[in-house]
Amino acid sequence: MTARRRNCDVLIVGGGPVGGLLACLLARGGLDVVLAERGAPSPRGGDTRGYALAAGTVRVFDDVGYWQTLAPEAEPILEVHVSREGGFGSVVMDAASQGVPALGQVVPAARISAMLADALSATGVERLDQTGLEILEAAGDERREVVLAGPDGRHRLAARLVVAADGTGSETRAAAGIEVQRRRYAADALVFDVRSTRPHRGRAFERFTPEGPLALLPQPGGRLNVVWVAPTEICDERAAQSDSERIAGLQARVGWRLGRLHAAGPVARFPLELVRARRLYDHRLVLVGNAAHGLHPVAGQGLNLSLRDVAVLAGRLLSARDPGAPETLAAYAQARTGDIDRVATVTDFLARGLPVGERFAPRALRMGMLLLDRIGPLRQLWAEQAMGLQPLPRRILRGLPAVPRASGATPAATGRRGEGL
Ligand SMILES: Cc1cc2nc3c(=O)[nH]c(=O)nc-3n(C[C@H](O)[C@H](O)[C@H](O)COP(=O)(O)OP(=O)(O)OC[C@H]3O[C@@H](n4cnc5c(N)ncnc54)[C@H](O)[C@@H]3O)c2cc1C
Repeated sequence: MTARRRNCDVLIVGGGPVGGLLACLLARGGLDVVLAERGAPSPRGGDTRGYALAAGTVRVFDDVGYWQTLAPEAEPILEVHVSREGGFGSVVMDAASQGVPALGQVVPAARISAMLADALSATGVERLDQTGLEILEAAGDERREVVLAGPDGRHRLAARLVVAADGTGSETRAAAGIEVQRRRYAADALVFDVRSTRPHRGRAFERFTPEGPLALLPQPGGRLNVVWVAPTEICDERAAQSDSERIAGLQARVGWRLGRLHAAGPVARFPLELVRARRLYDHRLVLVGNAAHGLHPVAGQGLNLSLRDVAVLAGRLLSARDPGAPETLAAYAQARTGDIDRVATVTDFLARGLPVGERFAPRALRMGMLLLDRIGPLRQLWAEQAMGLQPLPRRILRGLPAVPRASGATPAATGRRGEGL
């Protein structure tokens, strides 16, 4: 089949939350953007995750005008309880003692996906669905050529910049010859919603068990999103159980603090690995989000970190004369490396330092929790990390033109819960 050829400023490969948000921001800033997504138009319908968004991430969404659409379906996190199975008590962080209305917000992944789908239609991004990368040509001086394959044939695009936003298994990254550091954790995560007979009152729970971490995140409507990490063979068993068997096992682990738990939706399974790209850019090509760094979900930091990539990259590209210029990409990489290193190191430590079968782990955890509880500055550092309070280029993002509306799109809800976090 003949390939049609077209020029554009930026080609984004991968229409997940990272590629989707970046596409909207760049198009609103006046760049000609094409977004290629391998999946169907609404691939996230079956995504059962509830994303814990740090306060800094909520601010980015708010600055760019999208938070008002997400807010009605967000649940503020008022307290985080960290505990160890078999140990006494828990470390509690609460919003009031941090001087903020909420430590973060939990938003269903499917809701973010739906919001971005509307936003993409409204911004004039050309979206190629069910379309993936076939060939990445060597970079010319001005552009990088790419062949994409989709249901209506091949597309040849010559972009001033190609953005790899195609997740941890990024084919775009591989085609550019960028190597990765990869560690497959011997565990998967089962993710599903439950209802509890006692209200969660905005409390999030993170419990370290001998199998791995177990988190319950508060959701609107009295639901909680469960992220249950365990060795792969235990996940096999749990995935094959009936809802009532699985919930009985969960109840035995978390106790009765939330009353009786009931299944409230399908179960999805996620393999867990650490993937770090050895570099963040190539000639007229840049990595962002999970394509640059895939993390264990223990600290709920992956998307938060990724959206800081988006904020910095959008700021740099919108103020550059040539979005693919090497100095622009080098400045982005320099600005992001420290944050990525820090978050990946802390997350990997939590994922590996407290896991299955290591005899020293309970003691290390007990010591860590004691330290966290007793030493104010350390606790503050943890809370700031968890809330994502690192400086963000809000000034640049605020300068974007107002949010355009898709014709026929539902007007943004006015309830701005969590505003001003
Ligand atoms: C169990 C679990 C819970 C999590 N919870 C949290 C949380 O509470 N808070 C948080 O901050 N983070 C969390 N994360 C991390 C978060 O999911 C990721 O950081 C986020 O998904 C990264 O988004 P992305 O768009 O970079 O990648 P992805 O979400 O992986 O999206 C990549 C997209 O690219 C498309 N694609 C792939 N290959 C191609 C190709 N060749 N051509 C075209 N398209 C392609 C895919 O179809 C997909 O749509 C969690 C992760 C897991 C596994």
